[in-house]
Amino acid sequence: MKVLVCIKQVVDHKVKIRIKPDRSGVDIADCKLSINPFDEIAVEEAVRLKEQGQIEEIIVVSIGGVRVTDALRTALALGADRGVHVSTDSLLAPLTVAKTLAAIARIEQPALILAGKQAIDDDCNQTGQMLAALLAWPQATNASTLILSEDALQVIREMDGGMETLCLQLPAVVTTDLRLNTPRNISLPNIMKAKKKPLTEMTLQQLGIDPTSRLTLLKVSEPPQRAPGIVVTDVDALIHKLKNEAKVV
Ligand code: AMP
Repeated sequence: MKVLVCIKQVVDHKVKIRIKPDRSGVDIADCKLSINPFDEIAVEEAVRLKEQGQIEEIIVVSIGGVRVTDALRTALALGADRGVHVSTDSLLAPLTVAKTLAAIARIEQPALILAGKQAIDDDCNQTGQMLAALLAWPQATNASTLILSEDALQVIREMDGGMETLCLQLPAVVTTDLRLNTPRNISLPNIMKAKKKPLTEMTLQQLGIDPTSRLTLLKVSEPPQRAPGIVVTDVDALIHKLKNEAKVV
């Protein structure tokens, strides 16, 4: 059984982002980039399934510019077997990403596709759902537990009111939530081994994907600055302020 894991490279969550002076996007030129945290969890889950002998091969796929190969090498060091880099410098909308991933899925024929529930750069939370729809495969989003058997998959997901258990037939698409697992640290020998693992490069053209977006990015701007808070002297002062100055929303 093969598992395809989709990974997006994003600005590291510890970096304070800067907006380009012309407001055309986030300046990533000198930024540390990392695997989207939810995708790292997806890779870890695939590696655990392989260690338990439930799957044979883990393929990681990432779409983006040349720096994306670092994310793929990291995923290979975590335990994936081979990588596919779909190279493009275009800013792709989630539907185009999903179409590209669907094209890769048709070539690789995995039994399971794992993706993050959302990418922390644009928080779209769309790609996994669109991918499942394009392939007409069952889907489970925000998985916090995953139990795989020969031809079916049980997924537990957290909802506002409790936990939901879904049973899916394979092949299926699953997106990961934070509580699914804690990714392991990468050892130096595994970093060295990852350099020798196969990494193939493809283009959108080879996959028959048109990168033209139906979305237009108008501008990127910082959120408005919040007015600084104040410290009140006692509870009576707080109650007075709440009664007289609090805005009713
Ligand atoms: P989004 O819908 O943009 O929030 O992304 C959800 C998930 O789709 C991510 O966590 C990744 O697993 C996958 N994904 C998004 N963009 C890419 C990309 N450029 N390459 C590979 N996977 C991606």
